[in-house]
Amino acid sequence: MAELNEALIKDVVAEVLGRLGAGNGGSSGSAAPAPSAEPKKDCKCNGASGDHGVFATANDACDAAQAAFLQLREKGVAARRQVIDIVKTMCDDNSQEWGRIELEESKIGRLDHKIEKLQIIKNVPGVEWLNPYGMSGDNGITLEEYTPFGVIGAITPSTHSIPTLAGNVVNMVAAGNAVVFNAHPSAARCAAMAVREFNKAIERATGIKNLICIIEQPTLDSFAELCANEYIRLLCVTGGPAVVAAAMKTGKRAICAGPGNPPVLVDDTACMDRAASSIITGGAYDNNLLCIGEKEVFVLENTFGKFMSAMERNGAVQLNATQLDALTQAAFTFKDGEGGGCSHAAVNKDFIGKDASVLANAAGVSIPNGTQLLFAETDADHPFVYEEQMMPFIPIVRVKSVEEGIERSKEAEHNYKHTSIIHSHNVNHMTAMARALDTTLFVKNGPCGAGLGLGGEGYLSFSIATPTGEGITNPKTFTRVRRCVMVDNLRIY
Ligand code: NAD
Repeated sequence: MAELNEALIKDVVAEVLGRLGAGNGGSSGSAAPAPSAEPKKDCKCNGASGDHGVFATANDACDAAQAAFLQLREKGVAARRQVIDIVKTMCDDNSQEWGRIELEESKIGRLDHKIEKLQIIKNVPGVEWLNPYGMSGDNGITLEEYTPFGVIGAITPSTHSIPTLAGNVVNMVAAGNAVVFNAHPSAARCAAMAVREFNKAIERATGIKNLICIIEQPTLDSFAELCANEYIRLLCVTGGPAVVAAAMKTGKRAICAGPGNPPVLVDDTACMDRAASSIITGGAYDNNLLCIGEKEVFVLENTFGKFMSAMERNGAVQLNATQLDALTQAAFTFKDGEGGGCSHAAVNKDFIGKDASVLANAAGVSIPNGTQLLFAETDADHPFVYEEQMMPFIPIVRVKSVEEGIERSKEAEHNYKHTSIIHSHNVNHMTAMARALDTTLFVKNGPCGAGLGLGGEGYLSFSIATPTGEGITNPKTFTRVRRCVMVDNLRIY
């Protein structure tokens, strides 16, 4: 009996090795080539391809993701739940290490917040959001169900690479999809590392391979190849104006989480300390890398002094005019002729997401250890106001009236329709600003994060679809609504 079992095991091992040697889609019969330790050069699984979801080319990644989508479909909603649980748990368990790895690679932001952004992935909604909509009447019953697209192509930003990837996975897999990522080149290694670890755990738990795929070295060419691939039914783009424009030109449906430049209005009915501490919390978060982060503040003239004092009381450091000028010269480059006759300011990338101490150094001021945010009075047409600067510095602009504050806020927001914030206890002011700016997120009397369920009611997503209108993405965003109709029957009463 023991001999028999041994022979059987040898046969099974030989069969399995034979199949492996046959490569993708190869024959599983006895004519399969002998296994080799070296991958064949012309084989799709050589190099990075097939390394737990990390692929050299977009087309290989899409082939693998399509196969994974079909596997997920077979395994049902239970498997989706398992995947979501794995991704959320791994983000939490690895938050310290992965946060550090992402910061070391991207070199922007703050370690404490890189870690926290992974720990809060648990707040991203999953399959519980996909209850079908049922209708029942004299003519029978009808069910509208939220069904998957198949394979989604997703583009992630440098500002939160693993968190955006993980949040997208939770939403997209909840809806039954597989996904292929083209990450930002400056935060692509950490994204690939997370994809490998997720896929290893997903395969162990569910048997599904390559549910989350990524292109190891993302480029504009791999973006184009991804968008053109026949399996990609939908795009989800999180980034600035260039990638949104590029996605819109592909001819595929694109859910675009685009840029923001959130203005804040503080009126004379607001609690100054609450306003200041909220603005510091939101504007300093990850060194102001959040697309929803407070970027410029307009304050009513009659309360301006009180507000500036409250900012200092709550730990921010004020720059004087000379220091502001030195910081502005360092943080922007100015090109003549690109600003409609005036010189045009472009953000100096060396300062994006850097600590307040780096900015203070450029401004020529020494600040206490642990200072999170700098601020200064500026004009409304200062580059720190109109450029999405992503630095822990907030320009504060004096306005004569609420009407002027709303108008200035609208100009600074550039009609991105992303995020705006008011600190006020006057509902008329709140309503007027909400109507005028028409932003996707409008937060009253709290830091920007309250708009994503962090201190306010609501759920989290790192992709807020602004120009295309889907809003804060959730599992339903990544579904096709299909209607199933039973005529004259199955209504039971
Ligand atoms: P980015 O626009 O430089 O890059 C975003 C992604 O797009 C990257 O993967 C990049 O490689 C790719 N990309 C850039 N230009 C491209 C092009 N022409 N064709 C194809 N792909 C291209 O942005 P970033 O610096 O990584 O992130 C910050 C920007 O993203 C800010 O504007 C911020 O407001 C925005 N953002 C928006 C949201 C949101 O939910 N709305 C979330 C995070 C970041």
